[in-house]
Formats: sequence, C-alpha cells, structure tokens
Amino acid sequence: MAEKASENAEYDYDLFVIGGGSGGVRCARFSAQYGAKVGIAEERYWGGTCVNVGCVPKKLFTYAAHFSEDVQMAKGYGWYMDKPGFDWPTLRENKDTEINRLNGIYDGLLKGAGCDVFFERAEVVDPHTVKVGDRQFIVKNILIATGGWPFVPNFPGNEHVITSNEVFHNESFPKTIMIIGGGYIAVEFAGIMHGLGAKVTQVYRGPLFLRGFDKDVREHLAEEMEKKGINLRFNEDVVSIERHGSGLHVTLTSGEVVKTQMVMYSTGRRPLSGGMGLEEAGVELAKNGAIMVDNKFQTSVPSIYALGDVIDRVALTPVALAEGMVLAKTLFTDERPEMNYEYIPTAVFSAPNIGTVGYAEEQAKQKFGKLRVYTSRFTPMKHSLSGIDEKTFMKLIVDDSSDYVVGAHMVGPDAGEIMQGIGIALKAGATKADFDATIGIHPTAAEELVTMRTERA
Ligand code: NDP
Repeated sequence: MAEKASENAEYDYDLFVIGGGSGGVRCARFSAQYGAKVGIAEERYWGGTCVNVGCVPKKLFTYAAHFSEDVQMAKGYGWYMDKPGFDWPTLRENKDTEINRLNGIYDGLLKGAGCDVFFERAEVVDPHTVKVGDRQFIVKNILIATGGWPFVPNFPGNEHVITSNEVFHNESFPKTIMIIGGGYIAVEFAGIMHGLGAKVTQVYRGPLFLRGFDKDVREHLAEEMEKKGINLRFNEDVVSIERHGSGLHVTLTSGEVVKTQMVMYSTGRRPLSGGMGLEEAGVELAKNGAIMVDNKFQTSVPSIYALGDVIDRVALTPVALAEGMVLAKTLFTDERPEMNYEYIPTAVFSAPNIGTVGYAEEQAKQKFGKLRVYTSRFTPMKHSLSGIDEKTFMKLIVDDSSDYVVGAHMVGPDAGEIMQGIGIALKAGATKADFDATIGIHPTAAEELVTMRTERA
C-alpha cells in the first residue's frame, strides 16, 4: 500500500489511537480505509482484553469445561468410555497458540489497512501531541481506547488472590477455588472451574447474583448451578485471607473460615485511564477513572476522543466495535451515525448459558407499565436420555399496550446463539403477534420462543 500522508501537512497523523483492543483496532482500521493517516500504539497485546484475557480464552475454556458433562451424558446414549482425565497444561498451551495466532491477525489487519503500528506505550503530551517510546508525533485527533483492568478491593490478604488476568495462565489447576463476585466473570468462571474438575465456592455480597438481569433468570441459574454441585454463598463477603503453606484460609463476614487452594476476585473492572497525561491535557474523568465523552465520543478536549471499556458505558466487545465504527465514520466520512445502546443482546457463558435481550421484568414494568409475561421451564430433549437433571428457562416480556416484545430471556444450552436472532427481531420492533405467527423449527428448544401462548398468572 502506498505511503499515506495526513490530509493536513502540519500533522504527522490524522488520528492516533492509544490502545489496540476491540474498539481501538476497529476505529484505526476503518479510519485508515476511509483515507486517514492513522497511527496506533499498544503496549501489552493486540486484541486487548477480549482476545487475550477475556471473551476468546474464556469461550475456549467453556468448551473445555463442558466435556465433563458431555462424557457423563454420553452414557445414556449408549457410549461407554474409561474414566476420562483432564490435562490443564494441554488446554492452557493450545489456548495460548490460538491467541498468538489471533494477535498476529490483528497486527496484520492494521498493517494491511495502512496504519502505522507501534508495539509500545504511548502517552498524551498535549491535545495534539502523543509520545510513543522516545518519539513525539503531532496529531490532529487522538483516540483513547485503553480498556479496563480488574478491580480488587482493599482487605488484609488481598495479595493472595488472582483475577481474570491471571486465571488463564495458572501454573497448575486447583482442586478447590473460591470465586468472589456476582457478575459475568464470576458466574462464568464458577461454571468453567467446576466443569474442569475443581470444587467451586462462589461468594457474593448480595442476596442473589447477576444484579440487573431478570430475577427469574437469576433464580433459575442459581438453582441449576447448585444442582451441578457449585456451592453458592450469597449475603457473604471476604474479611481477610491468610496463607498457610500451599493453601489459603479465607475468613468470611459470617465468621466462618474456609480453606481453599485459590481465590479468584471478579469484583468488576475499572477504566484504565491513569498515568498517561489525560488529566494534564484537560480531559475530564469520572470518579472511577472513566473518560467522560459526549454522544460523539468527544472528551472535554475537542481533539481527544475515547470509547470502549475506558468510557465505562457498556463493557462488551461488540459495543466497542460499534462505537469504533461510529467514530471512524464521523471523523472521516460524510456520514453522521448515532450510537444506539437499546436492545443490546448479550450472553453469559455460565453453566448453563444465559442469553438475553431487552428489558428485565422489573425494568420493563417501570418503563412500560402494564406487561404480559410468558414463561416456560422445561427439560430439553437432549436431557431425556442424558441422565442430567437440567431445566431450560425462557421468558418473553410484552408491553401490553403496543404488543411489542420488550424483553426476551433464556437460560439453557446455546442461549447466546439463540438470542442473537431474537435480538434482530426485538431491534426490528417485533410484536408478540409476530412471534406467534412465526413457525417453529422442530424439534429444537428455540421453538418454545414462538409457541408460548399462555400468559403467566
Ligand atoms: P461486573 O460489574 O459484571 O460484576 C462485578 C461483581 O462484583 C458484582 O456482582 C458486584 O456486586 C461485585 N462487587 C463489586 N465490588 C465489590 C466489592 N468491593 N466487594 C464485593 N463484591 C463486589 O464485573 P465483572 O468483573 O464480572 O465483568 C466486567 C464486565 O465485563 C461486565 O460487566 C461485562 O460488561 C463484561 N463481561 C462480559 C462478558 C460476556 O459478554 N459474556 C463476560 C465477562 C465480562 P454488586 O452487584 O452487588 O454491585
């Protein structure tokens, strides 16, 4: 590709992106494809949290974790096999190989799009200057897409815990693990570590995990996880942790002391915005470090933009990708797209999975008033022979006055795969009558979504 020049000769770059994760890479690539001269710097790993210590390795681990149940289920279908074993280093190393491949793909995509790529730390010097290693560039626009970092609260012994940054690289696989938190990461890892063979205790400070999700979904998941043998401890928290030899003694708020080999904290993530010259350049930050932006991702300094986890709106990869596209188009095309945060479908890769789009019942009630609610709890066909006692749950929430389906929720195998399509329907404004008029695909679990006719009493 021919060497690009900035549209404006006084600048080295039209756009300089700091952070090579999902949002930063997307915005850099498309800006370059729209004709801008783009530089991008990443100090840790191409692909950011998602590729390296998030979505990608987590999903690979959920596949790995499911094999223990698959092997158990296979007996009911006539298969017999010797006692299966699990080798942690094989999984860890195969996962690393795949991630290295993806890191290379990201690097290649950026270079292929014509971006100048810097694998080093970058900082903001002033609204139009970035420092990359020992060089300085004069740039027209700066994009901060530096993501987030796991947060561990302060308490005696917190130096003994790991987070989602470390869990993918553990030297050995623990026999027992305590997972703290009740969000996406905590429930996903409770399922993963259990499936891979650890004895799991999940500790959450509130009465029921996954605050913000539909209450029926949260209750159903808790019940299914307990049936699998995951020890859920709600209304509990950690007071302190002491190391005793190779084990940890965790003192809980109830006074109980629990012995475990490993403690993993999943108590949220914080925007990674400190120590790179932002405040000195005049960029306004929220109390938790989130970069404050308007609906065009512009900060309080007009030449500096931010998006993705560092703005702490919706910390999901596809949202960062969409934000990156909006900014690239806004800066370098005649289009003026708006980012729309309504009806974002999402999945929690728990055991079993959650798939959801739209409003939880409690939120829908506040927004729409009178609702019609349809629920179904059933044994999926696979479990008629599997010997596993696992139920699937589905729920549709309908705004009574318009008939729009405003919430669709599922707990069960492949819930994420199923909810992607339902997400399109809700985004397109499907009514319950449209769901009812849709022919089911038989025999699937998903057909239940178009055959729920009886309103919950
Ligand atoms: P979340 O914000 O989802 O959950 C944090 C959890 O930790 C909550 O249960 C919260 O409790 C609890 N918590 C917070 N502070 C403390 C504290 N001081 N002491 C005890 N408990 C505390 O964070 P995660 O780390 O799980 O995930 C971060 C984000 O990453 C998610 O919000 C999601 O956007 C994204 N993600 C998405 C995934 C997906 O799409 N499948 C997978 C993994 C992550 P409380 O509710 O009481 O505040």
